[in-house]
Amino acid sequence: MSEETPAQMPFHEETSFELDRDQLESILLESQNISPSEKERLNTIIVDANLKISAEFADIVPPIPDSDIVKKFVFVDKDTMNELEDAWDPTSNLNLEYSDRANTTGRVFLYEGRFVIEVPATDDLWGNLTENNRNILVRKYKTEEKAKELVRRALDTNIIIHESTHLYQIPNADKKMYLLRETQAEWMTRKHVPHELRVSNPEFEKKADFYQWLVDKYGVKNAHECALTGNVENDTEIVSNIMSEFSEGAVKDLFPNLKNG
Ligand SMILES: [Zn+2]
Repeated sequence: MSEETPAQMPFHEETSFELDRDQLESILLESQNISPSEKERLNTIIVDANLKISAEFADIVPPIPDSDIVKKFVFVDKDTMNELEDAWDPTSNLNLEYSDRANTTGRVFLYEGRFVIEVPATDDLWGNLTENNRNILVRKYKTEEKAKELVRRALDTNIIIHESTHLYQIPNADKKMYLLRETQAEWMTRKHVPHELRVSNPEFEKKADFYQWLVDKYGVKNAHECALTGNVENDTEIVSNIMSEFSEGAVKDLFPNLKNG
């Protein structure tokens, strides 16, 4: 259990998920219009991700049942995503305050009952690939339809593992804890996305590498426990040591788009 004082923890950790879900659904009634088969496809990815994540964190936090975690994902289009981000009270969500919002495809709202809003990958993604990349994929997967499906699945899988990891993290208003949690989510994504579905870029790798360095230095259980709960049982020194690794230089390097605040 987290031991945050009220001063550090201005929001109710035990926010009723149902209540927020109702509010959310009234906002999204018209926007979440994905087909049942698309939802089914995404649910399969969520359940598969949850199996890996709950196993990784098994000795630290309880598993989120599959039937609960699929309900925590709300799929919207890009415009709705932007509207919701603008509408949300930024002081209630550190993720909003401290990240680059321009290209957001998924966002976890831990304080508002722990749910994820996500823009599922569309075929636009295919158009963004170079012709050379498209040709390679079509050759590999025989038809353009299958290649497109793979590209969409790859992006969805990466985002879902990242955001699901955040759902396991107990809300904590500390800024550096937020940074640690981002590196943990990237590390989890790199570790648990099947090789053929991995979507990577240097920025993601840098964060995953940093968390790996913390794992090597402090042990995987301590790093996970610190990132998930904000505490390491019987050893507060480890928490402050891990937090001190987020020096000004490291933060600038890992989060170049972070706003000052
Ligand atoms: Zn994140």
